[in-house]
Amino acid sequence: MKQRLLEYLRCPSCGGRIRLLSVAREDAGEILEGELTCASCARRFPIVRGVPRFAELSKIEADKAATASNFGWQWQHFTQADEQYDEQFLGWIAPVRPEFFKDKVVLEGGCGKGRHTQLAARWGAREIIGVDLSAAVETAFAATRHLENAHIVQADIFQLPFAQKFDYAFSVGVLHHLPDPRKGFQALSAKVKAGGHVSAWVYGAENNGWITRWVNPLRERLTSKMNQRTLLHLSKLPAAAVYAATKLVYGPLNRSERGSALARHLFYNDYLSAISSFGWREQHTIVFDHLVAPTAFYISREEFEQWWEEVGAKDVEIGWHNKNSWRGFGKMKG
Ligand SMILES: [Zn+2]
Repeated sequence: MKQRLLEYLRCPSCGGRIRLLSVAREDAGEILEGELTCASCARRFPIVRGVPRFAELSKIEADKAATASNFGWQWQHFTQADEQYDEQFLGWIAPVRPEFFKDKVVLEGGCGKGRHTQLAARWGAREIIGVDLSAAVETAFAATRHLENAHIVQADIFQLPFAQKFDYAFSVGVLHHLPDPRKGFQALSAKVKAGGHVSAWVYGAENNGWITRWVNPLRERLTSKMNQRTLLHLSKLPAAAVYAATKLVYGPLNRSERGSALARHLFYNDYLSAISSFGWREQHTIVFDHLVAPTAFYISREEFEQWWEEVGAKDVEIGWHNKNSWRGFGKMKG
């Protein structure tokens, strides 16, 4: 943890300022082991392996902890660096472009192993704070500690330990895995100052009927409860089918004019065509993702629009991404 993070931290219980109580180990400007305390209620929070810990997994409700630990395991095992990832990320947060990050204080709700946190830091954010509930913070910290504007915090999105000081907050692919996605969105938006911006990307209910009908029951009853190493291997089967279909059919067809006219009629063409250039590991990750989470909601456009209205956002732009998900961008009322 870098000292400059203190300015943004607030007690998740009472909102009081957070002070550094003690430092047991420090290395190159990073406090690796130490303790924080709330100046108002005296609650204490440890800094462990460089990450301030505002959530104790043992005290978090079982389903949230299960989701966090399933994804945490995955993020420690999938560490591919995919070059296409920049473009994929920009697709999720459009119309935001890299230059938008310049000099902004940014919050990421659900940073996983820190891929977006890293990008935001490289794109010139003044500070980027990535928050996650899971053990993936260990990987995220290792991936970002060398970037002086990047910070990783372990916390519950419903009890974010921050002041309302952010110019921009984003969350991609995380809210729909929370027990209450709408509340998660509210909690994240509440940390953005008046006139600041918010981005969110969630699974759409539209066009995903086949997932809710066929994949969800399998995920809820079987795959999310399986041993993860077994699931990792087992998910290679459906991933191989997706890989073959995208490399042999969807990719080649969509690259030619005549082919794409034909491909339009194929099952799930927009999405499968969009991921056809991804490598094997990336596609395997996507399939594994859909099978591993104990909680996943598919959000309709109508509901997604309500989220933005409820937080009082202005100039909201909602986009249909790959015809299977919603992305939104809006300005907080000033
Ligand atoms: Zn307090």
